[in-house]
Amino acid sequence: MEKFDLIAFDIDGTLTRSKLPLDVEMATLLCRLMKRYKVAIISGANHEQFKWQIIDCLSCLPEHMKNLYLLPVDGTVFCSYDDDWQCENDAPISREEKALITTAFEDIFVKSGLSNPDKIYGELIEDRGAQLNFSALGQNAPIELKEKWDTDNKKRARIVEILKSILPSFSMRIGGTTSIEVTRTGIDKAYGLRKLMERTGISKERILYIGDKLFEGGNDAPVLTLGIECRVVNDPEETKKTIFELLK
Ligand SMILES: [Mg+2]
Repeated sequence: MEKFDLIAFDIDGTLTRSKLPLDVEMATLLCRLMKRYKVAIISGANHEQFKWQIIDCLSCLPEHMKNLYLLPVDGTVFCSYDDDWQCENDAPISREEKALITTAFEDIFVKSGLSNPDKIYGELIEDRGAQLNFSALGQNAPIELKEKWDTDNKKRARIVEILKSILPSFSMRIGGTTSIEVTRTGIDKAYGLRKLMERTGISKERILYIGDKLFEGGNDAPVLTLGIECRVVNDPEETKKTIFELLK
């Protein structure tokens, strides 16, 4: 008997490089995995990003797609497949809350003792409904620059420290390569996975979670509080090895 019923994945740094689509090998492996297990994908990314990063790359049989759950924006959006995708949404962050958060990010580099980036590519803060997403170099920055900017996560840890004192009713988490995810307190991947367990009836013992940011302050770390078995990976190649093991 298999040890797990459901395998849950983070996206950026786990299934794909930051904000890139699934590669062909990973897409094939996910379809193979869905023949044997239920699969859930949870990320701070919005549904639109799930579509081009994940769904558009998958060519699994419809009967296997029924084994896939998508949890955009930490599960504040919950999508399941039955001939077509059905998604339910939590209440979005209000305009007043958004104004508070945006103000907190003004001059954030200076407030954190960091130098301002040379160039910002596109929006600094993206509205994802129940989450606001800050990208230090802008939402459209080239991946080469992003991957170099905060390799040890220390810059963002400093920014998060400052934000915590300014925004006590929100939580901030480090994600992707340059991102900080801001949600109402209590909204994180643990929230999303709890919702998943309720909806599917699958218990925590039967779930394996795979992510790249399980360190303290990382956006996968809240999963550890659920008592779900977690596997840390450094990159998508390591994730592929783990999937191969599960398919043995
Ligand atoms: Mg990640």
